[in-house]
Amino acid sequence: MVLTQEELNDWQNKLPIMKDIMDLNPVFWMNPYLKNVREVSSLPLTRDDMEEAASLWQRFAPFLENEFPETADANGIIESPLKQINHMKESYFTEVSGDFYLKCDHELPIAGSIKARGGIYEVLQHAEKLALEAGLVYRHDHYDVFSSERFKSFFSQYSIGVGSTGNLGLSIGIISAKLGFNVSVYMSVDAKQWKKDLLRHKGAEVLEFEGDFSEAISAGRAKTVSDPKGYFVDDEDSKHLFLGYSVAALRLEKQLKQENITIDADHPLFVYLPCGVGGSPGGITFGLKQVFGDHVHCFFAEPTHSPSVLIGLATGEMDHVSVQDFGIDNRTEADGLAVGRPSRFATAISDQLVSGVYTIDDNELYRHLVMLADTEGIYLEPSATAGIPGPKQISPYVRKNDIDFTNAVHIAWATGGSLVPEKDMEKFYNKGKSIR
Ligand SMILES: *Cc1c(COP(=O)(O)O)cnc(C)c1O
Repeated sequence: MVLTQEELNDWQNKLPIMKDIMDLNPVFWMNPYLKNVREVSSLPLTRDDMEEAASLWQRFAPFLENEFPETADANGIIESPLKQINHMKESYFTEVSGDFYLKCDHELPIAGSIKARGGIYEVLQHAEKLALEAGLVYRHDHYDVFSSERFKSFFSQYSIGVGSTGNLGLSIGIISAKLGFNVSVYMSVDAKQWKKDLLRHKGAEVLEFEGDFSEAISAGRAKTVSDPKGYFVDDEDSKHLFLGYSVAALRLEKQLKQENITIDADHPLFVYLPCGVGGSPGGITFGLKQVFGDHVHCFFAEPTHSPSVLIGLATGEMDHVSVQDFGIDNRTEADGLAVGRPSRFATAISDQLVSGVYTIDDNELYRHLVMLADTEGIYLEPSATAGIPGPKQISPYVRKNDIDFTNAVHIAWATGGSLVPEKDMEKFYNKGKSIR
């Protein structure tokens, strides 16, 4: 439903920022619907839900440790380091006060991206539910039984489907195949070849669709749910993905404590999250708000060509509008963020919790990729760099809310990159170099 010129004019009159968004200019939007944590009302999830999700991860740790040796050092817990990026700060962020960290989710084991949190969690909770219902397991059992042939042959009766531009498919495909499910990943033909190859190698079926990615999702959903034993992971409306992501907040709380980093009124925490459909940044924001309350300020970062969550939130129309409705093409090289319509589940929650959203030009993603590589030796995929310029975006917010910035703690969430083949990474890097 592309809006008429008159409707577009109405939006631009009502919301002046819409003109810049439609002109593809980078913008910073402050969320007028942000609430103090005490005033937040009627969220569909609670802190208990997040704690329960953390327990599920714990139950599956023996299985993950068994099946994925790269998680053994952490006893089957999938987590990433928090690194201070001083060289980057000294070179490019001298005017930003406070400390600057990178949350290295590009190093997450198994999937190499933030999707290792949401995607793997959703498949594990589904597997547990099936096994509990079949009386194969009890919650207090040792979950290395999920590695047994008996379990794998049980799960082989069931199918899992997912539509994905790439990283979600990787995480769902890899964990589902490992558990023994029949897993199908529905991708658009222009998804990265190495991702398709890797998925097939891991035992997933990859189906490719011409045309817009949303067609791949619709086809995948229809095909999967036509099987009574099929389960579709729905990125556009998933509570489980959201909960899986939220657990990151409890882990980060622990890491900050270990590093003796205090978060309070004098040491506010600013977190910058690359945003596609809004699930991962929404889940992490929800979690961080449970843990740090009003001392944490979360910002989403979207490509100028795919500002789906920004448009949903700013207009208040949520998932009822897409970027295409506003004449925006959803073409970006940040394939992890190339989403035209926001998640229904996540956006309704982020509405009250996210401090703001900024948009970023593709060229800037590549420039930050090079900056980080040159100063810190850390290599991210383009999508994953969107959070890095965050500290330079938010001065209007800091002024308006009269926040003492002196001892701020900034965390840019690095969301993916370690599985990118070296050749592809070299291309990203060279492209960034040529832009400078
Ligand atoms: C999926 C993804 C994101 C964004 O997560 P959403 O849940 O889609 O908002 C960010 N970065 C990378 C690398 C991703 O793959």
